[in-house]
Amino acid sequence: MQTANVSQALGEETSVRPKLQSLNPATGEVLAEYEPAGEAEVEAAVSLAAQALSKWRCLSIRDRTSHLFRLKEVLYGRREEIAALITREAGKPLVEAMLTEALVVLDTLEYFGRRTAKFLSSQLVPHHNLAMKLKRGRLEYEPYGVIGIISPFNYPFSTPLSEMVPALLAGNTVILKPSEFTPQVGLAIRGLFEAAKVPPHVAQVILGDGRTGRALTAAAIQKLIFTGSVATGKRIQAAAAERLLPTVLELGGKDAMIVCADAHLETAASGAVWGAFTNAGQTCVSVERVYVAREVADRFITLCVSKAKRLRLGRGDDPATDVGPLIRERQVSIVERQVAEAAAQGAQVLCGGRRPDLPGLRGFFYEPTVITRVNHQMRLMREETFGPVLPIMVVENDAEAVAMANDSEFGLSASVWTSDRKRGERLARQIEAGAVMVNDCISYFGISEAPHGGAKASGIGRTHSRLGLMEMVRVKYIDSDLTAAIPKMWWYGYGVKALRFAQGFVEFLFASGPVRRARGLGAMLANLGKKL
Ligand code: NAD
Repeated sequence: MQTANVSQALGEETSVRPKLQSLNPATGEVLAEYEPAGEAEVEAAVSLAAQALSKWRCLSIRDRTSHLFRLKEVLYGRREEIAALITREAGKPLVEAMLTEALVVLDTLEYFGRRTAKFLSSQLVPHHNLAMKLKRGRLEYEPYGVIGIISPFNYPFSTPLSEMVPALLAGNTVILKPSEFTPQVGLAIRGLFEAAKVPPHVAQVILGDGRTGRALTAAAIQKLIFTGSVATGKRIQAAAAERLLPTVLELGGKDAMIVCADAHLETAASGAVWGAFTNAGQTCVSVERVYVAREVADRFITLCVSKAKRLRLGRGDDPATDVGPLIRERQVSIVERQVAEAAAQGAQVLCGGRRPDLPGLRGFFYEPTVITRVNHQMRLMREETFGPVLPIMVVENDAEAVAMANDSEFGLSASVWTSDRKRGERLARQIEAGAVMVNDCISYFGISEAPHGGAKASGIGRTHSRLGLMEMVRVKYIDSDLTAAIPKMWWYGYGVKALRFAQGFVEFLFASGPVRRARGLGAMLANLGKKL
């Protein structure tokens, strides 16, 4: 995956360790520089997190919730400031920073704050087997311990916090290593925990690059939640396998949009344009490729082009801006290369397809691009683009659309657009992806009840929702026998009688017909024997 090696390109493997640069991607202006944390700092942070664990995990969920509800109050008070910072450092329009970052985290705090106690309450496990009726089983949920969280640049606030919140409520302590491209957002997260007076070292933020992430993976953590590219995810999984460190991997996508002939075309085109260009296309669950039914293809494509042409590029802090810059120059060149290669192979660029000339802005912009006559031999249709490009392919029917959608190593999310909900849901079931939306895209990321995670190369495990909370706990099964003074029938005391008893018991449970079962019961009663 080409987006994979952003950190390496910055010299991760070189001997001189570059500082982390906080840049404004709209202007190229350096905002600040930071030293990346080294191995010793990572280990020290993990050791402090382990010390903080003993008290934190012993608090009731209610007490932990009140700490995080304070965090919610602090965040609500600082929401404008945080959104402005995200826009400055990651480039996205302010409206996106408010909705997809601040709002998502506020809602995550509300959702898990109100439900974690119920979700993690001890659960009775009734036993169906007659031999086990005199036992009581329960499921209990325990924190792992110290959880490491490594996050990417594109949603630098909502991605890590939607993982930190359930991890903390479940009783873990957490260390976040944010992206090297968004260190100031990382520091703002640290500031929120400090202002909310969450006990020291319960939620730490260490700034760093890929090497820092490697050190965190190798440190004495008990679980790692990673969000990023497939290439980095594979490296992490290989390192984690060495010591059987449990991981959740939220990786890249090449999300398909299927437009059926009966779709509401005006709305579908608006959805396609927003889905492909929001956050300048740097969204893991964005619309990365479209399959449209031949009957409506011309009209749909015309609508997409006309809507894409109306989008205004610029600084994210200008409220008139629809599309901001990409994160770094390297990301622009990946997009440029994929589009140029596709064009050389016969694709037709209908709008965009170049860097814009924006007076006074020396940042990393690329024009919203609609491109047709694409095929699956092109990298543009196979690899994650992670930029503002909307490739559209015409298909003959639903079956071909699904086959094309599934012809990918990725399986993060997808969308189906139709005025027939049943048809939409039928197609959704056939698509190999972690989530499929009918008549919308991306927004499930903001639905706290919706699990987020991929199929195929898009990842392992889930974040968000009750299932994401369950990734933050070890399940323990506790079983109590109600007959403390009675030896069990399967204990020692073997011999012919014990064997006949066992044969009778199996017959009693599983033979067909009442006669055979009664015979089994008879054999049991006749062969009740003494235990050792
Ligand atoms: P990336 O893989 O380059 O980096 C992600 C994080 O991993 C960064 O914090 C980086 O410092 C760290 N890292 C790099 N090498 C490491 C190593 N060897 N060991 C440990 N940590 C290491 O990804 P990126 O370019 O920041 O983000 C873009 C990618 O993230 C895209 O592929 C996108 O689809 C994916 N993404 C996925 C989701 C999801 O939920 N599935 C969400 C957002 C982004």
